[in-house]
Amino acid sequence: MAGCLFCKIIKGEIPSFKLFESDRTFAFLDINPLSKGHALVIPKFHGAKLTDIPDDQLSEILPVVKKLAAATGATNYNVLQNNGRIAHQVVDHVHFHMIPKPNEEQGLGVGWPQQATDMDALKALCEEIKAKM
Ligand code: 5GP
Ligand code: ZN
Repeated sequence: MAGCLFCKIIKGEIPSFKLFESDRTFAFLDINPLSKGHALVIPKFHGAKLTDIPDDQLSEILPVVKKLAAATGATNYNVLQNNGRIAHQVVDHVHFHMIPKPNEEQGLGVGWPQQATDMDALKALCEEIKAKM
């Protein structure tokens, strides 16, 4: 898509430190890493959110994330994929972060605002979601 930063990186119009490329998938180092080895894996198909990408364009993403995690030697790492501004998405082309977590200070910091358990509500929600899948 014209104007999309990551589409331009895929086309080579903007330089990147490329780690992997196939017909459907592209991976490169994040320009402002949270830790050494922080990488991005993207489908070549342009779409802003995960739900915009056809299944067949996503099938290689996690295997490439795995390869990168192994190649960086990270033993602790997070895989992150943000959708929407409030969910911390800045670039509107789907991307999966592979972020090594070498220590407490570097890598991803996560807020985890857990809610109290309501089993009846969980059961009802489970049924509601399943009915729509
Ligand atoms: P988001 O917050 O959208 O999930 O993450 C976007 C990521 O893209 C950020 O971690 C940011 O550092 C990275 N990024 C933004 N612009 C560029 C760029 O021009 N080149 C590279 N390699 N990474 C970028
Ligand atoms: Zn794009």
